[in-house]
Amino acid sequence: MNYIFPNLKAHSQNSDKLTSSIYSLIDKLKKHRILSETELCFILDNISLKEIPYLYKASFVVKEKYYQNRVYLRGIIEISNYCKQGCFYCGINSQNQKIERYRLSQSEILAACRIGYDLGYRTFVIQGGEDTYYTDQLMVEIIKEIKVKCADVAITLSLGEKSKESYQKLFDAGADRYLLRHEAASRRLYETIHPKYMFYDTRRECLSNLKEIGYQVGAGFMVGLPTQTNDDLVEDLLYVKSLEPHMVGIGPYLCHEDTPLRGSKSGTLQETLVMVALTRLLLPKVLLPSTTALGSLDPMGREMALEAGANVLMPNISPTENRILYEIYPDKICITDTSGQCRNCIENRIIARGHVVDLSRGDHFDIEKKLKS
Ligand code: SF4
Repeated sequence: MNYIFPNLKAHSQNSDKLTSSIYSLIDKLKKHRILSETELCFILDNISLKEIPYLYKASFVVKEKYYQNRVYLRGIIEISNYCKQGCFYCGINSQNQKIERYRLSQSEILAACRIGYDLGYRTFVIQGGEDTYYTDQLMVEIIKEIKVKCADVAITLSLGEKSKESYQKLFDAGADRYLLRHEAASRRLYETIHPKYMFYDTRRECLSNLKEIGYQVGAGFMVGLPTQTNDDLVEDLLYVKSLEPHMVGIGPYLCHEDTPLRGSKSGTLQETLVMVALTRLLLPKVLLPSTTALGSLDPMGREMALEAGANVLMPNISPTENRILYEIYPDKICITDTSGQCRNCIENRIIARGHVVDLSRGDHFDIEKKLKS
């Protein structure tokens, strides 16, 4: 059981007085980009469906100021579902004996990049479990080869925890960005959803190392985890505010039956979108993905996230036959599509909601400004 967003869960409508207090806090956050812990908690404890449109509108206006109605596309390649870690919420964790494991060879990764490049993508997100097969040396070779063959792309890595030296080698080889969700900023919650050999402090250290090296860094967290409270979510908001990452990936927790958290309740679309919108107000220029998990939760989930302040979509360009095996959560969408089908589908969805596709590298606002000057 989790204890978040009581009024959303109850589908209640607040009194006008309570609504006006929430509106004032949203206005204050929009203006000052920060609220106290108590004020953020007040919003989460009291927000109801009645105040949601006001929050999303505020967040959308802030996004428009920096990114207009552009939506950046990144082609994501899931290179391996082997993982040495045991995160309790993840369907590909090392303890799950029920899945067939796969990994892509160097040439398969390069071929996926080629397809992605021809489809117009100028960012590749190379994501996988923590698979020791991909040594630093192999990843350096892969990164360098991508940069030779597709010179104008940005490379985002999402390969988990590594030493600072490893991160540095990959950066020196040409990697531009690194996604490492912090998963939960509350120490209690982090320790509840990870085995004893995974450390809260290590995760934080990895994120500060990545920043220090010079990557564009992505943090992120899940909404609706078992035992999660509004206080925990406020910790997430205040942590990303203090870290100031370039990207924040926020997704609903989706219960996978082949994990230690089997039988628990999943997070909801609305709860996740509230956190997306608040994150946009706290970090106006941040890159906010509309995650595939939101599309898996609701057919219109990704579009709704764009209207709540998200501005990035990551269509899959992995070989179709492998997609079904990268089941970090259940009922994942787009697993039977080709890369070309995903590209068209996403573009149509973006245009249908009045946004436009931006196929540039899609750097963070400040980096783009710096690169142009
Ligand atoms: S969340 Fe990442 S690190 Fe954890 S088990 Fe899944 S793939 Fe491995």
